[in-house]
Amino acid sequence: MDDKVNLLDLSIEELQDMLAGMGQESFRAKQIFQWLHKGAGEVDEMTNLSKSLRQELRDVSFIGKFKIYRKFLSQTDGTVKYLLESRDKNIIESVLMEYRHGFTACISSQIGCRMGCRFCASTGVGFVRNLSPGEMLDQVLCIQSDSKKRVGNIVIMGIGEPLDNYDAVVKFLRLVNHPEGLNIGLRHISLSTCGLVPGILRLARENVPVTLSISLHAPNDRIREQIMPINKKHSIDKIIEACKIYTEATKRRITFEYAMISGVNDSRGNALELAGKIKGMLCHVNLIPINSIESADFRKSDPKTIEMFKNILQQRGIETTVRRELGTDIHAACGQLRRSAVSVES
Ligand code: SAH
Repeated sequence: MDDKVNLLDLSIEELQDMLAGMGQESFRAKQIFQWLHKGAGEVDEMTNLSKSLRQELRDVSFIGKFKIYRKFLSQTDGTVKYLLESRDKNIIESVLMEYRHGFTACISSQIGCRMGCRFCASTGVGFVRNLSPGEMLDQVLCIQSDSKKRVGNIVIMGIGEPLDNYDAVVKFLRLVNHPEGLNIGLRHISLSTCGLVPGILRLARENVPVTLSISLHAPNDRIREQIMPINKKHSIDKIIEACKIYTEATKRRITFEYAMISGVNDSRGNALELAGKIKGMLCHVNLIPINSIESADFRKSDPKTIEMFKNILQQRGIETTVRRELGTDIHAACGQLRRSAVSVES
């Protein structure tokens, strides 16, 4: 059935081309795009299209919606974790969080992940495939229609490495930013990467100035290599160089994510070394007390150590915050998301 095209994957221009092939006028593309981005799940909901056009669309295409397989509501902070089932029966996870400035959707970019970070649950259960642009968009649509909340911010921080699925992610950014669609501003979107340098450099030239988050987690290559194997390919210096090019091109401030792991990367010396590396950059550091996962026995740094680390950075003029932990009770927090197959319990 999937030799048909998923309408949610298409830009307005691609819809126009498709409709031109059917002898249709191009304004229909905009109508279809609007229906899709309002959440239509069936072509028959598109009541301003003729019956015959709807039939023709059904012959060549489908609307690739996820089914909500399960849903978990955090008792402590209202975070909702969704287990979404794809047409090919894989399950991915997406999260809805509420912050002071509104609702944020955390979405996945791949089914599984290839990066192998040792502290992350998304690794270890294997990589299945990339998600398509429409599948990333549909995570937002699903969350909105289920929660009846308007999503104002998106973080691509769920399962997967977005820059390992570059083309689909960039197309998704253009879809979700489109004025005829959800129209979510690029400055309300964060893309988080473990530091794939060629992807960062390409993104700098792409003209989609999203907020770039770098999962740094270590002040030097020796520590980073132990917890993030990808560092053997892209060293910290190369990542920082690419970040400087990104901020130069986009004028956007970079966020460095730093998961605080007791005894691994949280000493005074580590803080000083980190400060030395990123001093003077247009950046911000987000300290995340590491969340525990089953497959690794890393422990969170204690609050005093986190405070000390934060103070050292701040005294050196580096803006630093400690991330609020949301959704930990339902395993919806950073690094706790993983893909699974239907019938596997989460
Ligand atoms: N692959 C991308 C997107 C995933 S984002 C990336 O690496 O950035 C998920 C974020 O959560 C990343 O910053 C990741 O390093 C972090 N993370 C992973 N496991 C974690 C854990 N156990 N505790 C806290 N943060 C974790």
